[in-house]
Amino acid sequence: MVASHPLGISFEFFPPNTEVGREKLTGVRDALLERNPRFFSVTYGAGGSTQGRTLSTVNQIREAGITTAPHLSCIGSDKDELRDLLAQYREQGIDSLVALRGDQPSGMGGVGELRYANELVEFIRTETGNHFEIAVAAYPETHPQAPNFEQDLENFVRKVKAGANLAITQYFFNADAYFYFVERVRALGVEVPIVPGIMPITNYTKLARFSDACGAEIPRWIRKQLEAYGDDNQAIADYGTEVISHLCRQLLDGGAPGLHFYTLNQATPCLRILDNLD
Ligand code: FAD
Repeated sequence: MVASHPLGISFEFFPPNTEVGREKLTGVRDALLERNPRFFSVTYGAGGSTQGRTLSTVNQIREAGITTAPHLSCIGSDKDELRDLLAQYREQGIDSLVALRGDQPSGMGGVGELRYANELVEFIRTETGNHFEIAVAAYPETHPQAPNFEQDLENFVRKVKAGANLAITQYFFNADAYFYFVERVRALGVEVPIVPGIMPITNYTKLARFSDACGAEIPRWIRKQLEAYGDDNQAIADYGTEVISHLCRQLLDGGAPGLHFYTLNQATPCLRILDNLD
């Protein structure tokens, strides 16, 4: 997918749950394809809740002939289920994955047989050798459930060493957090590319809610300005474009190996940022 390729961008989608959403996604894909992405990826609902839709969305995106990686989470699944899914992906010619632990929705089943992403990566390598290029998640601002930064760092290193080819970060708005994280993991012997995850800003209320849940900090200077725009979505989008373009420039100038956009199935916010970056 990725790891061996120099600088590049990639785009993440979620599987739409309506026919209208599916049709719209083809247009979004085509608009983003013009920017020559390295790959697309498609998220996977916790506990396998979108399993069928993730695969059908991956196949829809792949019709354009571009590498598309399904995300795969292990929480709540047993090894047989994961083995079957990996076999299905192989049969269909899929050769890239984003491997995650995932989050179990409250009240939904047990934890499953694999407890953490490092165990999933190890399982994929044991079952399928080097067939898949595997990306894993990284958290420059620390995973919300981690007791501290240092332990989270060790856990990250463990999953890369289990056989990941690439890491994609949770989104963040503070470039220093990314640079510090990269410096620290390099010192621990991690050599794989660590691609910053980029979240375009389009809706402050949703962003604030989501950021609280996933542990991404919205700096005060951004928060105050977004709050001041109230319901003016155009002003939020314009300001968001400016702030995120600046962040992307800082990251690329500082040596980030690419950018992975959380598109939320919309092309325009990503295209506006990319236009600013030439
Ligand atoms: P892990 O790496 O397993 O880490 C989870 C927590 O456990 C961390 O606190 C870590 O420090 C700790 N830990 C890890 N290994 C060990 C160990 N061996 N022993 C003790 N503690 C350990 N969620 C979805 O449901 N679907 C998606 O498609 C999806 N895509 C994502 C894509 C990206 C790029 C990112 C950054 C996140 C994505 N997520 C997705 C969210 C992700 O599932 C959650 O953040 C989840 O809580 C952690 O998954 P992980 O793979 O990072 O877990």
